[in-house]
Amino acid sequence: MSMTRAVVVVAGWLLAGAPLAAQTAGPAAGETLSQSYRGSQSRNVEYQKVAPFKVFDNLYYVGPGNVAVWLIETTDGLILIDTAQEPLVDHVIDSVRKVGFDPKNIRYILLTHGHLDHFGGAAKIQALSGARVATLEEDWQLIEAAGKQAGRGGQPPPAVPKRDLVLEEGDVVRLGKTELRTYHLPGHTAGSPSWSFTVFDNGRPHKAFIFGGPGQRNGVEGGTQFLNSIRRLKKEFSDVEVPVHVHSYLNTYPVPEGGAILEPGLKLKDRRPGQSHPFVNNAGWRAWLDVAEAGTIKYIEDAKAGRIGGRGGNAEN
Ligand SMILES: [Zn+2]
Repeated sequence: MSMTRAVVVVAGWLLAGAPLAAQTAGPAAGETLSQSYRGSQSRNVEYQKVAPFKVFDNLYYVGPGNVAVWLIETTDGLILIDTAQEPLVDHVIDSVRKVGFDPKNIRYILLTHGHLDHFGGAAKIQALSGARVATLEEDWQLIEAAGKQAGRGGQPPPAVPKRDLVLEEGDVVRLGKTELRTYHLPGHTAGSPSWSFTVFDNGRPHKAFIFGGPGQRNGVEGGTQFLNSIRRLKKEFSDVEVPVHVHSYLNTYPVPEGGAILEPGLKLKDRRPGQSHPFVNNAGWRAWLDVAEAGTIKYIEDAKAGRIGGRGGNAEN
């Protein structure tokens, strides 16, 4: 999605109940709601401040529109998945409060990979809560490297969390009665931790999965790693019922319905008793894996033929 696409005012979206601050903008022509957060509205800070919402008994969405932040409630405190980045970290903290929790009760911050849009708020939220910050060794190295480099336009380096908890494949993060099992699924980064856990819909359990790095990147080497990760997911995790995605625009629902978070979030608001939960979507997860596999095979071919740069591809940030 082009970052330079003109902002188009779509009055119709106002009717959908957009927050007041966002009423000056909406998706551009051809964009889904989710795509607008990465595309035409990517720099519109007020627009990015989507209202937080409860998704399952123990899972809340507390992120901005572009980069996901998830909050897991346990019997012994909170677990935050990713943190977004400035200037939206206070929005994340406020969102935790709005869904009824004290951010000081965040005990763990799990980082899905060492890119700034995911870890940028970790130091601030760690300072506020005393939470332990966890990711794989490979992504700690990325985070620490980012903390030594000037930001865009000569800005000072981003604040980075202190190396705290280094996870490995198979490690289980336990808090209260909640367990998240860690997997190493590289390709987007050399680490890209992923976690399986259980969500509950009015007490009924569903198998949820957070894929930490859901976009191919870094040429033939990264693409090949990513392809192996996708094939492992197809083999071992085809039974996932709830894909907990790290970006809203990932399409576990087919276009034009689009989007992995915001569109099913709207459906959830209108859900009537007895209707299925819109985030329980095994078919969408399996279809997404098929599309990712085919796209990655093409990505590797393109990388081998020199048609993309080192970063290239349809990688997310
Ligand atoms: Zn990334």
